[in-house]
Amino acid sequence: MKEIVVISGKGGTGKTSLVAAFACLADRPVLADCDVDAADLYLVLEPHILRQEDFSGGKQAKIISERCDGCGICMEVCRFDAVKKDIHPDNPGQMKYIIDPIACEGCGVCVYFCPQKAIDFDPPINGKWFISDTRVGPMVHARLGIAEENSGKLVTLVRSEARRIAEENGHPYLLVDGPPGIGCPVIASITGADLVVVVTEPTVSGEHDLDRVHKLSSHFGVPTVVCINKHDINPEVTERIFEESRKNDMPVVGKIRYDNSFTKAQIMKSSVIEYTHGPVVEDVKETWAGILGAL
Ligand code: SF4
Ligand code: SF4
Repeated sequence: MKEIVVISGKGGTGKTSLVAAFACLADRPVLADCDVDAADLYLVLEPHILRQEDFSGGKQAKIISERCDGCGICMEVCRFDAVKKDIHPDNPGQMKYIIDPIACEGCGVCVYFCPQKAIDFDPPINGKWFISDTRVGPMVHARLGIAEENSGKLVTLVRSEARRIAEENGHPYLLVDGPPGIGCPVIASITGADLVVVVTEPTVSGEHDLDRVHKLSSHFGVPTVVCINKHDINPEVTERIFEESRKNDMPVVGKIRYDNSFTKAQIMKSSVIEYTHGPVVEDVKETWAGILGAL
């Protein structure tokens, strides 16, 4: 089984539309939507959910104010400065302690030392993940709660479930729609993959993003190829991307013309492969062949 992860330096490059198109061309792929902050592969593939589970990014401490006597021990022992104190709103002579959920690392030290057993330590539910069936193959996807952290951990979970399904059922490909950018969720989605496909556009910011992604993927030693989407909107920059990619041992495996069939297909909840027989389909097919050739 080969794992192909499709990423982009930033959002809006057409990455997800291309993943949906590749999924239609691949032979029985398993799909993993690892763009958990803005999961939208399901909009095109309309999954039928077979199983859903809660996701918890880890334990977090929370003071139950009715039990707290304001001794301040939790603040003394927390080395992450996550405990804050304020004047108690009902009793100005007493201090009120609260835990900043962003700063709390969930180490549990304050829970252990609190003499009143006034600190709750249950893992909060941060999101949900799903195993579904789609018309092109099984799909693992997720939804993270608004402003929730730990998307790297959720990406790892989605990826490993998708890998398990692919291996157990003999699927030849695992196709991952990765998160945009170069942060922790991207690292969680590319490490150990067989191939990373970077979708870029011929713009100055696209060139810059490609450079950042190249540094990231070469740091983690993952073979990487490039797909230039909307290559005809700026032939000069497209040529520069070809040259830079060659120099960086990150070959361009395909270029896809600008075509508003992508948008129209998305509106119709289909991939461009299912929507049209126009010349753009040949571009996508050649790119997919280039990806398989690079594996
Ligand atoms: S250690 Fe417990 S009782 Fe003391 S301030 Fe903290 S939560 Fe309240
Ligand atoms: S769980 Fe750890 S990090 Fe969180 S408030 Fe308690 S001591 Fe601080």
